[in-house]
Amino acid sequence: MEHRALTRLAASAAAALIALTTGCTGATVQGRPGASGLRDPYFPKAGNGGYQVEHYDLDLDYDPADGQLDGTAVITARATQGLSSFNLDLSGLRVEGVTVEGAGARFNRSGNELTVRPAEDLKKGEVFRTEVDYSGKPKAVTDPDGSQEGWIRTDEGAAGAAGAVGVGEPVGSMAWFPGNHHPSDKATYDIKLTVPKGYEAVSNGELTSRTDTGDGQTEFAWHSAEPMASYLATAAIGKFKVTTGKTPSGVAVYNAVSPGEEARSAPRLARLPEIVEWGGGRFGPYPFSTTGAIVVPAETLAYALETQTRPVFSGAPSEDALVVHELAHQWYGNAVSPKSWKDMWLNEGFATYAEWLWSEDHGGPTAQQHFDALLAGDTAVDSEAGSDWSAFPPAAPPGPEQLSESPVYLRGAMVLQRIRQEVGDEKFFALLRGWVADHKYGNASTADFTAYAEKKTGRDLKKVWDVWLYGEARPR
Ligand SMILES: [Zn+2]
Repeated sequence: MEHRALTRLAASAAAALIALTTGCTGATVQGRPGASGLRDPYFPKAGNGGYQVEHYDLDLDYDPADGQLDGTAVITARATQGLSSFNLDLSGLRVEGVTVEGAGARFNRSGNELTVRPAEDLKKGEVFRTEVDYSGKPKAVTDPDGSQEGWIRTDEGAAGAAGAVGVGEPVGSMAWFPGNHHPSDKATYDIKLTVPKGYEAVSNGELTSRTDTGDGQTEFAWHSAEPMASYLATAAIGKFKVTTGKTPSGVAVYNAVSPGEEARSAPRLARLPEIVEWGGGRFGPYPFSTTGAIVVPAETLAYALETQTRPVFSGAPSEDALVVHELAHQWYGNAVSPKSWKDMWLNEGFATYAEWLWSEDHGGPTAQQHFDALLAGDTAVDSEAGSDWSAFPPAAPPGPEQLSESPVYLRGAMVLQRIRQEVGDEKFFALLRGWVADHKYGNASTADFTAYAEKKTGRDLKKVWDVWLYGEARPR
């Protein structure tokens, strides 16, 4: 588009000026390079040091026919140290230009790292805007466990349409926008998606405008007012059937369903407002201003993902429990996000426990019965009871390829039931609600949780942690 070319021109002119003048200005700020990773125990190169992002403003043009993306990312961040350079995570794509505070910046690429050298060093505490102009055909990223994330093209089959979806747990968001791609750096977002007329484009948060650009394109502007970890950002393009509504408490619902999945999705999505309302009763007020679901064609992904405010389902959700799981993540994982990927059980153990609670509250087996069934391997009560839930402690998966294995989910949920057994219902549910109320929009670690649980319940829970959370042996 025209304005990008102008931006680049202005940027290179500014860069030339700076090149001429830096020699005689006398550098008063001494920065050093920001780290190229945050040393996450499982994904050491994910994220970057030296700054925290406050806001992402993404302007993405996407052509589903050929998979071409033309993007501008404006990233507002605060330097947490003096910076001579800093990194963004970006996989593939072509970077056409980078400016920092409007001045052309040098940059280079190495693997998934985009290193930016601003014309002038940044001061500690300084808020600065980085604009990255980029383009190309974004691709899928294969995780250590073999699953696919990043940018996935979809086939809407009978409708004859191709679409796409961006999903980013744990590191796939780097496939479609440059950023600080680690859950510890949460920010607000504006995501503008421009697609050919006839397509819908859906993202997180609230749709603030939908504009016919007059040149055969439609522009969808989405705003996320509450902080979001970048792995929870999504963009979905397709010939979706969109439906809107409200939960009983007045939270706006926006659902987008791929053609061919509408009939099977309808009974599940009909219960979505009720599920959100139920979560509010169990976990405390729903933490975001909007909710809903995105159903992409079946076979697109091997999983559903709790993308913020609007989970992505690959094909119609097969059961209510799956919708409950992804919506429970809005409290556990999205409002309160892990400090590192080692804390993933704080997401998955809680979301699995939410399924048990939903069952308990709706005439199915109670959480205690699920717990007992797992101990006994009774698949008649819990279909997952035959899995190797005790293979490793939920707070210490052996490696990144085990992050989505059953101990993180099932034994994680069992940790919560063990706490409930120790402290009783009143204190336990106060703990579930308090954990969100006291940490929402931030990050927390396993150590934060165990300390909080003991403080909130007034009980020494060391045995639960030692045996269930950290113990190598199968608990009995
Ligand atoms: Zn989950």
